[in-house]
Amino acid sequence: PPRTSRSPDLPPDDLAMRLSPATISYDGPIVIIGFGSIGKGALPLILRHIDSPRKRMVVIDPDDSARRLAELEGVRFVKTALVPGNYRKVLTPLVKGGFLVNLSVDVSSADLIRLCREIGALYIDTCIEPWAGGYVDKTKPLAMRTNYALREEVRAIKGEGPTAIIAHGANPGMVSHLYKHALVRLAADLGRTVAPTTRSEWAHLARDLGVKGIHIAERDTQWADIPKQPDEFVNTWSVEGFVGEGLQPAELGWGSHERHVPPEATFHEHGCRAAIYLTRPGATTRVRSWTPNAGPIQGYLITHNESISIADYLSIEENGETLYRPTVHYAYHPCDDAILSLHELQGRNLRRQSRFRLMNDEIVDGMDELGVLLYGHARNAFWFGSQLTIQQARALAPYQNATALQVTSAVVAAMIWAIENPRRGVVDADELDHDRILAIQEPYLGKMVGAYTDWTPLENRDGELFPEDVDREDPWQFRNVIVR
Ligand code: NAD
Repeated sequence: PPRTSRSPDLPPDDLAMRLSPATISYDGPIVIIGFGSIGKGALPLILRHIDSPRKRMVVIDPDDSARRLAELEGVRFVKTALVPGNYRKVLTPLVKGGFLVNLSVDVSSADLIRLCREIGALYIDTCIEPWAGGYVDKTKPLAMRTNYALREEVRAIKGEGPTAIIAHGANPGMVSHLYKHALVRLAADLGRTVAPTTRSEWAHLARDLGVKGIHIAERDTQWADIPKQPDEFVNTWSVEGFVGEGLQPAELGWGSHERHVPPEATFHEHGCRAAIYLTRPGATTRVRSWTPNAGPIQGYLITHNESISIADYLSIEENGETLYRPTVHYAYHPCDDAILSLHELQGRNLRRQSRFRLMNDEIVDGMDELGVLLYGHARNAFWFGSQLTIQQARALAPYQNATALQVTSAVVAAMIWAIENPRRGVVDADELDHDRILAIQEPYLGKMVGAYTDWTPLENRDGELFPEDVDREDPWQFRNVIVR
């Protein structure tokens, strides 16, 4: 049945104040690939913040069910699936000298970046994607189906060239700016005034503060008035994307303080070596973490680019030896219907449900609480992040829920940064200017919260049950964090 949009909870004055726009002019064509939950939400923000000729804007997606949303804005819609055999021919005339915004699934980020460098186009995506089937291609060894391998392939595209920002949504993406803000705040609370600018300065700051690790700790409480049906996977962002990464091996940045290597851990033999993967999928790997609103949570250790990029960025190496590195991983408690969907998926021995549903207009209430938990330091643990309710999200921008707005606002903020910094080559989120990005993005993030906690993964675990899982001397060992 048709649904009415629910009324926003922000008064109009507050809204106007929060939306004072960061706007930039851009003459080149802008081409958006993928018009799913993120593409549909990103378009109105791009139009709001980037002053660019609409007649040169194009949206490409094989599914044209939302064509009207683009055409109402005067943006052309091209109904096509990009595949290895056609992407160069389709994209070159449309985006030469412009900006390619990849918000699709199943289109290779590496191939798009190489094309953009040839045709002088800026590039951004929110996830390093392979071509269709790449995540589950059993002809390739498991190590080659990790996000580590995907990131290594893209990072190997070196040298001067048009800016290509990889993996810049909320996470990966925004969280890389949040941990920098949190490090400066933690330093201040410990009596130090710091202003790091280089990679080495950030890494030394994290080490000197005694940060053992960083969880990307997220609790999504959005709920809908349509319950999940049997044989249906429900989520607040791409079900395709979530199931895809949930079936990849769980991956984490492996910290220098860790003294128990998990039995299913595998180390990489090439590349930055900042991360390991477990020979089990993230969709069946739970970890203990904490967020301010929810308190203790058990989330899923879903593989994500930021687990690798942050651990790599904050590593201190000398003569081939790692002197410092934080453990970094995702601890994702999705919305309750997605938890039910994961439970069903596990019961089916990971055979996908036959129906997918992305929750949007049917959401009644709830928030996406997404931030970074810096742990193991003198104040134990500090969470910093965004608490964005569905009502706030609806008041701030159309066509999206709270989860999507944290992503789309990060996309538009990074696009502005790329237009301001057009010749940086391939860059991770960690290499952007975090203050600039957060200044643009913050009006869309609801309440920004910094909170200390004395919670540790040893809370309520006296070792009587499962004593082999517990290291009592250091609460912040990964052994204590993973749920066995
Ligand atoms: P979605 O499934 O809602 O939309 C993906 C769109 O891509 C669909 O409309 C689909 O038709 C289109 N598509 C599929 N194959 C295509 C092809 N061959 N050519 C062109 N288009 C094609 O997904 P979403 O929620 O919008 O997510 C999009 C991407 O953003 C995914 O890669 C997802 O992992 C990523 N994402 C990142 C973050 C983050 O915070 N970094 C958060 C959410 C989503």
